[in-house]
Amino acid sequence: MTTAVSVRQLKKTYPGGVEAVKGIDFDVYAGEVFGLLGPNGAGKSTTIGMLTTTVLPTSGTASLGGYDVVSRPLQARSMSSVVFQEAVVDKGLTGRANLQLHADLWGVRREHADQRVEELSALLGIDEIIDRSVGGYSGGQRRRLEIARALVSNPLVLFLDEPTVGLDPRIRQELLDVIALLRRRDDMTIVLTTHYLDEAQRLCDRVAIVHEGEIVALDTPTKLLARLGDQLLQLRVEGDVTVALAALGAHGVAAADAYVIGATLTVPLHDVSVGDALRAIDQAGLSASDISTRQPTLDDVYLRLTGASAAQAA
Ligand code: ADP
Repeated sequence: MTTAVSVRQLKKTYPGGVEAVKGIDFDVYAGEVFGLLGPNGAGKSTTIGMLTTTVLPTSGTASLGGYDVVSRPLQARSMSSVVFQEAVVDKGLTGRANLQLHADLWGVRREHADQRVEELSALLGIDEIIDRSVGGYSGGQRRRLEIARALVSNPLVLFLDEPTVGLDPRIRQELLDVIALLRRRDDMTIVLTTHYLDEAQRLCDRVAIVHEGEIVALDTPTKLLARLGDQLLQLRVEGDVTVALAALGAHGVAAADAYVIGATLTVPLHDVSVGDALRAIDQAGLSASDISTRQPTLDDVYLRLTGASAAQAA
């Protein structure tokens, strides 16, 4: 597997002492969609900033296509494109003029650029509106043009920073379909940041869960889920939840991967049967209500590791 992005012990401490990124390691392989998933303030944007040479690392190394972001910033920068949350296309120009302008900026030869614009506008479904002024585009069409713009220079890596934040549900779905389409292409390596778990699960080949500047888990969504087993027991407990958790631990029901949010205790059951778990609750003398079992989701993986629900994080 070819490595597109390589990150080793990468750190960023901002002036004033905020340790935004505390020494992270990961590789992104060519052709994969890699997700950085974490609550606000986790350090995702800072990481993207270092990889796109807008934020200078405090220590550690990062390279794109083999070029180090600190010692070879121009070459490293030319390996990637970024789609930001805010629009960067010029509303007064046509879609085509925007793409051509960007191609010129990146030194793409005109004949290549023309061909690339045709290909990308067809791929992203904007070929029929490409000669219209961007001011008249719908929100979804403009987002697709933003992605086409980023791809004109044929980057090794496409960075998508919170690609669907603030979009209405229909445009969001449209955009997710576009990203899923890009994912199927072997020549596309995508790094995206998100705090939406459904997005990560749907789009990413591998996900790094980032919490307070550190990567606390890195794997495929399926493997991250598999760690929690087939079934979870969830219950509300009266009194001290951590005492209840310890009691269930002492009865062999709750392991280290059980977690507490408010008064709710969530216990991956692994090999323990529901019947045994209920008996243990009884024997421990816990006053429990709303007892239910369900299959784990990526939300559980995230909650356990970051202590924040996806809804809170958003
Ligand atoms: P995320 O993208 O995961 O929301 P960020 O990388 O934006 O996280 O932020 C990580 C931490 O660094 C936060 O505590 C944030 O307040 C801080 N931070 C981000 N940018 C700056 C900056 N330019 N100066 C000082 N602190 C910053």
